[in-house]
Amino acid sequence: MIPFNKPFLTGKEAHYMYEAVYTGKLSGNGKFTKLCQKFFEEKYGFKKALMTTSCTDALEMAAILCDVKPGDEVIVPSYTFVSSALAFVRQGAKIVFADSCNNNPNIDADKLESLITEKTKVIVPVHYAGVACDMDKIMAIAEKYNLLVVEDAAQAIDSFYKGRPLGSIGHLAAFSFHETKNVISGEGGLLAINDERFIRRSEIIWEKGTNRSEFFRGEVNKYGWVDTGSSFLPSEIISAFLYAQLENLDMIQNRRKAIWQQYYNGLLNLQEKGILQLPNLPAYATNNAHMFYLVCRSLEERTALIKYLKENGVCAVFHYLSLHLSDYNKNHSDFIPELPACDQFADCLVRLPMFYELKDEEVAMIIKLIIDFFG
Ligand SMILES: *Cc1c(COP(=O)(O)O)cnc(C)c1O
Repeated sequence: MIPFNKPFLTGKEAHYMYEAVYTGKLSGNGKFTKLCQKFFEEKYGFKKALMTTSCTDALEMAAILCDVKPGDEVIVPSYTFVSSALAFVRQGAKIVFADSCNNNPNIDADKLESLITEKTKVIVPVHYAGVACDMDKIMAIAEKYNLLVVEDAAQAIDSFYKGRPLGSIGHLAAFSFHETKNVISGEGGLLAINDERFIRRSEIIWEKGTNRSEFFRGEVNKYGWVDTGSSFLPSEIISAFLYAQLENLDMIQNRRKAIWQQYYNGLLNLQEKGILQLPNLPAYATNNAHMFYLVCRSLEERTALIKYLKENGVCAVFHYLSLHLSDYNKNHSDFIPELPACDQFADCLVRLPMFYELKDEEVAMIIKLIIDFFG
C-alpha cells in the first residue's frame, strides 16, 4: 500500500537530539530553539519568531495577544482545521464562518466585507495547501475596519504572496511542524510576530505569564508573574529535531515540488476534458507543494475514486468537513450560514499521496490509476 504520508528524516535529527541531551539543556529556549527562531527571522523576515509545541498553541497565543474577549467576532473560513476556529473560541469569541472561493478552497476575500460588524476583531486567512490567500485585499479590509489579521500558515512554509513570505504579512502568523507537514518535528509549531506592539507580551505569554526571557537577557534583575500565559514553548529535543529538517529545507521542497509537477502534468488532460479540477494557483501565489489535491464532480464520484485507489494499493484521502456544519457549531450557535463553495470542497476534494520518498514510478502508477478510473 502506498501511504498518504510518510514522515521524512534527513538523518541528522537523532544527532542533534543527542547533542541536546548530553549538553544537559532539555527544557525550552536553549541553543536549538534559538537556532530555529533565528532561521525563520532571517529567512522570512518575521520581526520575531517563537517556537511553540504546535500550530494550535501558536494560534492560542495569537488569540490572547489579539485580546479576544467574549462577544468579539472572529472571521474564519469554514474549510479549515478545527484549530483555526477553536483557538479563538477558547477566548470566548463568536466565530463568523466565511465561504471559500469557487475555484480554490481559500477564503473568498471579495465576500469578506459583508461579514464585518462592529464586534469583528480578527480575520484568520488560512493558506490552504500552502497557496496564498488574497492578502492585499484582506489587509486593506483589516486596515479600513481596524481589525487584526492572524495568518494560519500551518501548511504554508516557504510559500509566497507577490514575493512576500507567507506568515510575514498579517500582524501574527502560526506555522505547524506536525508530521504531516513539509518540515516536521512530530508535533511542533511557530508563532511569527510581525507587529512590534506584540513582541514584549508574546514572550511573557510564551513563558507562563512571567518576564523570564527579559531576566535571562539581563534586562530586569528578577522575574515574576506579570500577565496571563501558558507553557507554550517546546523542549530543546523538539527544536533539535526540527533544526535538522530546516537545514535541508531546499532539498525537501525541491523533491516535493517535482512530485507535485509530475501529478499536475499527468492529470492535466483530465482537467482539460472537464472531468476533474486540479489545484488553481492565482498569479500572486507560489506553490510550496504541501499537498496535491483534485476536485471531483460529486461526492459519489469521489467516494468511488478513493475506493478504487485503495483496491489498487493507494491511500488517497478526503479533507476537511465544513466547520459551520460541525456538531460543535450546531450546538453553540443560533445561526448556521450557507457556504456552498466550502461544502463543495468538503464533498469533492481528494488528496493524493505526497511525501519526500514517494518515487517517480509510484506517482506514474497513481496517475495511470486515476486515468483508468475515469475511463
Ligand atoms: C495542521 C494544521 C493546523 C494544526 O497544526 P498543529 O501543529 O497540529 O496544531 C492548523 N491549521 C491548519 C490549516 C493545519 O493544516
